[in-house]
Amino acid sequence: MALFPTYNRYDLSVSQANGTIVEDINGKKYLDFGSGIGVCNLGHRHPDVQKAVEEQLNHYWHMSNLYKQPIQEEVAAFITEDSAGDNVFFCNSGAEANEAAIKLARKVTGKDKIVTFNQSFHGRTFATMAATGQEKVRTGFGPMLESFSYATFNDIDSVKAQLDEHTAAVMLEVVQGEGGVIPASEAFITELAKLCKEKEILLIIDEIQTGIGRTGKRFGYEHYGIEPDIFTLAKGLGNGLPVGAMVAKKEYADAFGPGSHGSTFGGNPLAMAAAKKILEIVFTESFLDEVEEKATYLAEQLDKNITSLAFVKEVRQKGLMVGIECQESTAHLIQKIMHNGLLTLSAGEKVIRLLPPLTVTTDEIDQAVVCLQEILQKQKVTI
Ligand code: PLP
Repeated sequence: MALFPTYNRYDLSVSQANGTIVEDINGKKYLDFGSGIGVCNLGHRHPDVQKAVEEQLNHYWHMSNLYKQPIQEEVAAFITEDSAGDNVFFCNSGAEANEAAIKLARKVTGKDKIVTFNQSFHGRTFATMAATGQEKVRTGFGPMLESFSYATFNDIDSVKAQLDEHTAAVMLEVVQGEGGVIPASEAFITELAKLCKEKEILLIIDEIQTGIGRTGKRFGYEHYGIEPDIFTLAKGLGNGLPVGAMVAKKEYADAFGPGSHGSTFGGNPLAMAAAKKILEIVFTESFLDEVEEKATYLAEQLDKNITSLAFVKEVRQKGLMVGIECQESTAHLIQKIMHNGLLTLSAGEKVIRLLPPLTVTTDEIDQAVVCLQEILQKQKVTI
């Protein structure tokens, strides 16, 4: 095999995908409750998004950011309309969006320290790896970029203990995704936003997994009634076309003036065509209401069939982001569940994560819950 063995791959070779269904090269069909990893929020190959990209293919594929591209302006307008941010920098991935956020925070404040959280995940570049509060992500790559420290999630005193006159920003996910689907408490976020304001420290929210309707709102922070100074997007913004975005308040725009930052492919027109159509669909009240309804339905089904199983410790959920924490390791179970026709994700050692497309049907939810129940009810707790 000529690829780096970077990924522990499952024995599934994809042939095609449509909506919630993935088909392997043998014609076996799977319900995709991972959506990539929270990427295909509108399901695979949404017809309107596909059409928008096909149309763009007939206009132009690439243009240097030295020239104006109206489609970038249109997507930026969608993201900033009634949101916490005013200006958007487009890049190609989540890590790049966070990298831009960290650079901007340091430039704006003239300070270097960034406080993040244990179990967080922000990416695998040098800055975002240092920002990630998981030792296993950083092992072997040291020395790390300096001035990052990790507070305890949902513990405001632990944040206070980390702040000093060199602190530029606090950065967090409002629901820790890779860390186990752990939602921030309302009290914690409210106090954190207040604390940052008082101390003139920037609040950066990483919306890479929680953004674009995943939690039932456009952005996860909207659940908490706060406004970050900077937030970052990727994954669902392109539904599979690579795109990232760093969004910030207008007072910080000058810090990213000409020559300060850039990306050859950032804001490429194919990704922009996809993003524009996706936001037209997702950022409507009726679509987001439906996501909330489906999330409620999924919660009811999990409560009825999964939560009380002996092998299940706790079910956590925000919108269509679910973590089923089990009593023991789940790696082998995710494989078994896959063999039974359902694609799920892990989040840490003991959590099965569900990130179904926001377009999932109640029928598909029923099928997925039956599949999970069949496997999980047979598991014995051994320790
Ligand atoms: N931030 C969060 C919250 C993520 O979940 C991820 C990816 O899983 C990233 C950042 C990194 O995104 P990417 O893999 O696109 O660099």
